[in-house]
Amino acid sequence: MTTVLAVANQKGGVAKTTTVASLGAALSALGQRVLVVDLDPQGCLTFSLGHNPDRLERSVNEVLAGDLDAVDAVLKTDDGMDLLPATIDLAGAEALLLMRPGREFALKRALSPLLGSYDVVIIDCPPSLGVLTLNGLTAAQSVLVPLQCETLAHRGVGQLLRTVREVQAITNPDLVLLGALPTLYDARTTHSRDVLADVSDRYSLAVLAPPIPRTVKFAEASASGATVLAGRKNKGADAYRELADNLVKHWAGNEVVTFAPELA
Ligand code: ADP
Ligand code: MG
Repeated sequence: MTTVLAVANQKGGVAKTTTVASLGAALSALGQRVLVVDLDPQGCLTFSLGHNPDRLERSVNEVLAGDLDAVDAVLKTDDGMDLLPATIDLAGAEALLLMRPGREFALKRALSPLLGSYDVVIIDCPPSLGVLTLNGLTAAQSVLVPLQCETLAHRGVGQLLRTVREVQAITNPDLVLLGALPTLYDARTTHSRDVLADVSDRYSLAVLAPPIPRTVKFAEASASGATVLAGRKNKGADAYRELADNLVKHWAGNEVVTFAPELA
């Protein structure tokens, strides 16, 4: 059975794309067959995995428009996973999609012939709650919400959770909210912990372990066209490896491993 995971938060800069790339690479290293899907017209995932969105003829845009089979747009990456890339024209494809019947289901339908070839599909949603994110949530079995542990991190979480509930009610009754993943986490101060405890209380949201620490390695990695796992040993890569390990065990039937900010 293929697991389809959407990574969503309408806030930008919370490490959605970094999480998709790093978790994808870590799962590949564990021997999982992984496809990552770029659903953001900015194409940051595509770029960070070594492909220039400006030079691509075939991408998720044509796939969502129904003009191309997904398999014909899939690219290989140096990190072991496959990539369904996006280009800036995805913004135009989004506008076209809005006029079509069953618009929330375009990605789910496009991915279904591919599912037999992968163990895990991870979808990088754009920073909005528009039709592209609705496509990501409709195609997924579960959703993970990266949460940057800073003041006001909770702003927007309520709206995101409402969208998840609407998707569960209307287009995808089986969608599971896996939980929040603390990102850009600073273990040296109590601030990150306090923010996390507040958000998880307020929304009774599970917090996944481990928190992903803030390290400069991520900026260096995305500039190099490979993920943080390709570089020298560092705590960011280690955290994503541990997350991958936890999720593989969870998908095999175990409880998901959570983090208790108030005890840390
Ligand atoms: P999003 O996709 O949510 O907009 P990104 O994954 O693009 O967020 O991350 C935003 C910025 O934060 C990028 O410059 C990225 O390199 C940086 N970043 C992500 N995770 C970390 C981390 N754990 N430590 C330091 N910088 C990070
Ligand atoms: Mg992004």
